[in-house]
Amino acid sequence: MDRTTEELLSFLKEAVTPFHAADRLCRTLEADGYERLPENRPWKLITGGRYYLSRNGSSVLAFSLPEGPFRGFQIAAAHTDSPSFKIKESADRVSAGYRGAETEPYGGSIYSTWLDRPLSVGGRVCVRTEEGVETRLVRSEGPLFLIPSVAIHMNRSCNDKASFSAATDLQPLYGLADDEPFSARIAEMAGVPKESVLSRDLFLFSDGGTVWGAGEQFVSAPRLDDLQCVFALFSAFRGAQPKDAVPVFCAFDNEEVGSRSKQGAASDFLRSALERICESLSLSRNETAARLADSFLVSADNAHAIHPNHPEYADPLNAPVLNGGVVIKFNADQRYTTDAESCALFRRFCEQAGVPVQCYANRSDLPGGSTLGGISSSQVSVRSVDIGLPQLSMHSAYETAGAKDTDALVRVMQCFFSASLETSPSGIRIRF
Ligand code: ZN
Repeated sequence: MDRTTEELLSFLKEAVTPFHAADRLCRTLEADGYERLPENRPWKLITGGRYYLSRNGSSVLAFSLPEGPFRGFQIAAAHTDSPSFKIKESADRVSAGYRGAETEPYGGSIYSTWLDRPLSVGGRVCVRTEEGVETRLVRSEGPLFLIPSVAIHMNRSCNDKASFSAATDLQPLYGLADDEPFSARIAEMAGVPKESVLSRDLFLFSDGGTVWGAGEQFVSAPRLDDLQCVFALFSAFRGAQPKDAVPVFCAFDNEEVGSRSKQGAASDFLRSALERICESLSLSRNETAARLADSFLVSADNAHAIHPNHPEYADPLNAPVLNGGVVIKFNADQRYTTDAESCALFRRFCEQAGVPVQCYANRSDLPGGSTLGGISSSQVSVRSVDIGLPQLSMHSAYETAGAKDTDALVRVMQCFFSASLETSPSGIRIRF
């Protein structure tokens, strides 16, 4: 297994919920010497400084300032969340002699893939303190749940047409009726007495990841969408050598449910950070607008690779393959923000980094999904491209991607974070 894939799998093992992903990113930034900026205090930034901030404990933004004046922002964003099941507030359920925990779906999972698989639980717990409230990150030591399928003898049509009710078919088993309820376990996981637990955001997650195939060219793991991109962007950000632009790394929560939370891509998280950076460097509104006009946003979210058994779902010409390199996404209706200009710029970065590029477009009679780029552009209107890494089985509990593609994204984004743009009436100059 190559080093990048090894590091990716170790990141996925830690980043089991958006809270854990953000925590891991913050700890790494802290160890690298980045200074944490509290959102509830005025910022005093110095040139040459390196900073990060987090919102809701599930979204993270990091940037570094050059020694001299800067031209624009080189921004790249991905998302920390993945489809899952969230434990409900009142969750203790007893039925047919068993104990379970009531859940509801978070995002759009392929339900069948969550069945008959050991599931762990993690997230955050809010506990009572003398002064008020404290938030604690928690995860179970090992699997505690499983969603059992119904035997084929009782459901003869299970292979013809899969249909699941989230209220009945997808409720996870936890123990037997006379076992302690799951809620008792939450206090234990948080390391506090039962009466101290006030609330929680807890999600089921599955573990494990592996490299496989004729030439070990495939990597399969939970949450590749979109933690493979988070990992690649973050590695590139840490390894970049910026000159006269401000590189900005963003990891947003809640993409899978539309991004419309205070920490999602539709929030003011990015816009407010960029405004505060400019203000704290004493730039006028006029000067700030000029910086934004020379900025570039790369929105990175995994893309559908052509399926080995169902190539008919792919566009005949714009169909990426695993290990074929980074994917640029196109959509005439602007569900992806890519246009000729942003595509051309991104291609120039790929050329510079020696990275292969592929194109994705939906089959013209299939609607497809949308992602961060368009939503973020409505908050911070800068030139933008939607890209991603090719993968199979998007939103399965166990997804598959090309083992070589992660490194390709790291290389092109390192080049991106190190560069700056200068727009003129005759074109855009890239300073690599
Ligand atoms: Zn995604």
